[in-house]
Amino acid sequence: MNIVIYPDTVLRKKAKPLTEINLEVHKKAEKMIELMRQSQGIGLAAPQVGWSVRLFIIDFGGNSSGDKVFINPSIIEEAGETNKEEGCLSFPGIMGKVIRARRIKACAYNLKGQKIEVVLDDLLARAWQHELDHLNGCLFIDRMSPASRFAASPQLKELERLHKKTRVPV
Ligand SMILES: [Zn+2]
Repeated sequence: MNIVIYPDTVLRKKAKPLTEINLEVHKKAEKMIELMRQSQGIGLAAPQVGWSVRLFIIDFGGNSSGDKVFINPSIIEEAGETNKEEGCLSFPGIMGKVIRARRIKACAYNLKGQKIEVVLDDLLARAWQHELDHLNGCLFIDRMSPASRFAASPQLKELERLHKKTRVPV
């Protein structure tokens, strides 16, 4: 399992809901958690490992209740606004300012198939919104402030160039 880098097309696909939480889902989610830790990210969405389903993981930092895997998630309510720097494991080296809701109330299913509800603030709320976007094929560069997007454009072009280079001709 590897992290898919921009501009791979899987990152632009709308991910499908998971209809069954089987052993394969458990195994893949576990591998994603490992990969996220190795990469020092705080969140990772299934499309970022080439798996186009509605699942993401968030690192709640030490507090390892089983609820760091979120399946078929949605946001119920959002409040406030914050404008902070954000990064993404699919965009190595790129940061940019993104406006997000400061607090969210959200729901999802956990790995046991139980419906869970969470209220999150600040960084965790931001991570949740970022990962949910991934499931809809929306990337943080789409939401970046024009100034951040402009500043990141040379690095984005470089990632696009590298992607072309690594592609196998058919
Ligand atoms: Zn991301």
